[in-house]
Amino acid sequence: MAKILITGGAGFIGSHLCKQLINENHQVICLDNFYTGSIENIKDLLNNKNFELVEHDIIKYYDCNVNYIYNLACPASPPHYQNDPVKTIQTSILGIHNLLELAKRTGARLLQASTSEIYGDPKETPQKETYWGNVNPIGIRSCYDEGKRCAETMMMDYHRQYNTDIRIVRIFNTYGPNMALNDGRVVSNFIIQALENKNITIYGNGLQTRSFCYVDDLISGLIKMMNQDFIGPVNLGNPSERTILNLAKLILSLTNSKSQIIYKPLPKDDPIQRKPDISLAKEKLNWTPTIDINEGLNKTIEYFKQIL
Ligand code: NAD
Ligand code: UDP
Repeated sequence: MAKILITGGAGFIGSHLCKQLINENHQVICLDNFYTGSIENIKDLLNNKNFELVEHDIIKYYDCNVNYIYNLACPASPPHYQNDPVKTIQTSILGIHNLLELAKRTGARLLQASTSEIYGDPKETPQKETYWGNVNPIGIRSCYDEGKRCAETMMMDYHRQYNTDIRIVRIFNTYGPNMALNDGRVVSNFIIQALENKNITIYGNGLQTRSFCYVDDLISGLIKMMNQDFIGPVNLGNPSERTILNLAKLILSLTNSKSQIIYKPLPKDDPIQRKPDISLAKEKLNWTPTIDINEGLNKTIEYFKQIL
């Protein structure tokens, strides 16, 4: 049994990770400031003797003795991270500094949830870990993108300078149950709009691409990464790439919805394409996603039907 700190544990991905690690009989401290997370996501765990909930902001140092730390604390949806950009960049930079200090003091292994956003609007496709990216340092996405890039830098510097035990994972678009109703990312937006027979809002012409990974696949990748020697960075995502228009049509058909597709302006700096090269994850972790988009979307649709 290990003692594990999960920051951002009440969020979408964090809540699935808490559940999985509790199921594996570990002791879990779930730390969250509830900026985008919700108590509903972890309510089934609150009475578990191995589960502890701490309301705290990672911008401030938090001290505890644990073996492993997963840092998932950071709003991930563009409308949420752009709502208070100063807070977002502080969360990434001050937050990772505090957690690295904690890892240095305790010898805990620290895994950082980095992102495909560090590749920006990529000029190379599919994106390999060796690609340095094409990121606007002063745009509306920069608070998130540059915050995550700087967090990777600090992780590597602590590792080289203090031998801190680190793991870096670059997560590509992930979806599933426990996304918030007001999350604002594309999969939850389209499903909610389709179930309510409201207009499906495509930003731009819908020909931009993303590659969508179901959350259970991601969780298995995160845990595999934590429990082996390679420090990363490693891409975790589903390489099956599709346009946003294709996603909208698929969700319309899976929900038998009467919604119409409408087009809205494309937000600034919205990446045109995104597709992970996951050969490194296959080689180092023997990891590959197994849940196809129809199965993953059906599970997510069922979740939103229940909570709407
Ligand atoms: P989410 O918004 O659902 O979860 C983030 C959680 O962090 C929330 O519970 C929120 O309340 C908490 N949080 C935010 N700022 C905090 C702070 N300062 N102190 C403490 N807690 C704080 O998002 P998610 O999709 O679950 O993303 C989790 C992590 O994975 C994030 O770090 C995100 O950048 C990363 N990620 C996610 C995706 C994706 O597609 N879901 C892709 C790339 C990277
Ligand atoms: N998008 C869209 N309609 C929506 C929400 C998002 O067309 O209601 C688009 C968005 O412009 C982007 C893609 O879908 O091109 C993925 O957006 P999301 O916010 O989910 O994540 P991103 O990968 O951009 O961080």
